[in-house]
Amino acid sequence: MKTENPIQKIIKTSLFALLLTVNATYSQAQENTKESKYSLSNAHSHNDYENDIPFQRAFQKGFGSIEADIFPVNNELLVAHSKDQLNPSITLYGTYLKPAITALRKDPNRKLHLLIDIKENYPIALATLVKQLEPHKEILKTSTHAGRLTITISGSRPKPADYKNYPDYIYFDGEWPLQHTPEESKHVDLVSFSFTNYSKWNGKGRLDHADYTRVKNLIDSVHAEGKKIRFWATPDTKSTWLALMNLHVDLIGTDVIESFGNFIKDLPKNIYTNKEIHKAYQPTYQSDGKNGKIKNVILLIGDGMGLTQIYSAFTANQGQLNLFQMRNIGLSVTNAADTYITDSAAGGTAMAGGKKTNNRAIGVDSTEKPLKSLAVYAAEEGKKTAIVSVGDLADATPAAFYAHQPDRSMEPQIAQDMHTSGINMLLGSGISNFKKNLNGTTAVELLEKKGYTVAYSFEDFKKSNADKLVGIVTDNETRPKIEGRGEFLTEAFLKVTQQFSKAPKGLFMMLEGAQIDHGGHRNNLSQVITENLDFDKVIGKALEFADSNGETLIVVTADHETGGLTLLDGDIQSGYVLGEFSTNDHTAVPVPVFAYGPHSDDFKGVYSNTEIFKRLLKYIQK
Ligand code: MG
Ligand code: ZN
Repeated sequence: MKTENPIQKIIKTSLFALLLTVNATYSQAQENTKESKYSLSNAHSHNDYENDIPFQRAFQKGFGSIEADIFPVNNELLVAHSKDQLNPSITLYGTYLKPAITALRKDPNRKLHLLIDIKENYPIALATLVKQLEPHKEILKTSTHAGRLTITISGSRPKPADYKNYPDYIYFDGEWPLQHTPEESKHVDLVSFSFTNYSKWNGKGRLDHADYTRVKNLIDSVHAEGKKIRFWATPDTKSTWLALMNLHVDLIGTDVIESFGNFIKDLPKNIYTNKEIHKAYQPTYQSDGKNGKIKNVILLIGDGMGLTQIYSAFTANQGQLNLFQMRNIGLSVTNAADTYITDSAAGGTAMAGGKKTNNRAIGVDSTEKPLKSLAVYAAEEGKKTAIVSVGDLADATPAAFYAHQPDRSMEPQIAQDMHTSGINMLLGSGISNFKKNLNGTTAVELLEKKGYTVAYSFEDFKKSNADKLVGIVTDNETRPKIEGRGEFLTEAFLKVTQQFSKAPKGLFMMLEGAQIDHGGHRNNLSQVITENLDFDKVIGKALEFADSNGETLIVVTADHETGGLTLLDGDIQSGYVLGEFSTNDHTAVPVPVFAYGPHSDDFKGVYSNTEIFKRLLKYIQK
């Protein structure tokens, strides 16, 4: 047989590789795992027997491939890495074959690849193995039988010419380059390589371009032969796993079963590729940062919208956001009075009422004293006021602007506070809180007595010209964007500005992108991004509105970050993002503040979230 070691092969193909370099470098960015074809069936438990619980940990995690090293000893096959570690009670049959066959019989949807690395004396080892496998033929895969257990022999193994001496269910790790007769080829399903022969990459950053081309050419050549490929001795990092996936490696080996298992299992919900791009509005900047008069104040709160949420939306929207058109930027420190990490109640109250308070408190300070909200101050100045949320109207963020209750769970009480607020227009969902009878009355009855028109659908809300108007729409109308919500938030914004733009003293509006937070809590990247993009469309309308009158100050910020989102990969050109969440809760990281319009430069710097109240109040009361 003609032998050619991998390095010779590389030299031979290097001219070809050189021609491909430009192309391959380009495609390294392009070929990102846009929609992952990878599942746990591609996960390979390297040297699995070195785990505290061999076989079970990887199998229960869902791995499609497991590796065991064996030595033939006294008619048995013992599993160990080296001879001095042999233990007569750890047999291939007892530790791997029997549990695998039992488990596969129980679960007809499961398949398993068992890679058996024979350390010495393959004739004896294979004879013993065949004896053990023969009674279980029906579950073993062959080129003509769709069995669910694939046995591949690696390490010490026969010459290809001798493959025919073994049953069809015995596959061999191919010797590269493959030079097989069709009959021999039927016994080869996989080719394994030491990664270190192709690259010295340490698994951080990316493969350098020459290595990338070398590895990619190898993978493509193996695939061209119709075989699967696996590398051993790869770095065991997220960047490596991603690189191997982007290169279409079939079996990805790991020693960290739980981490890799979770990583690959969560890929479908951690990857998002945006299809609907919205164009960013081009502001005039005529009033921006100037000393002009402020008539209208618009506060846009993206609940849970940290910098990574924003940047994932920017990437998904192929490199543009209305938010990123705003030039005056600060950071808001969000901690609550009683905790390092705020909730939306304390975060909303700090911005609405100007005091750090305890988590769960709505519109009251940490001694439960009511705090007058920016919306109420604005109403006192004769401005038209509006509170809009694409979520429950009695939920913490909107509630902090009209209610005063010690705990956010007191939603019926929160709803009943609304009629005393003097705010003109409120919109959101969650009707049950407004129909709940407390002390012989409901929030709806109280609102109607105060002269409010109550609309129960978004259509009716939009149609009404009432000056005091509450829209409590069906929960379906505020469903997540990924479940098909329409342009609720943009249309609500336009309704408020159309109705109140001619008000002599102007308007104050707080509009909440409530569900960026929900996506973070669910660790659902698609939800985070689609909600953020929906919110960004409103930001575009707000910038347009500000430019149309030159007397509008816009502040866009968040109450806190949700999910501890990290971006592991992305491609601005195609709108692909891969993110990972570190928690299903809020985090402490300060959140960005973006401002536009007259005096927007007042929002530069790093400050407490209560400063947003103080600085806005200054312009509301002018
Ligand atoms: Mg909220
Ligand atoms: Zn939250």
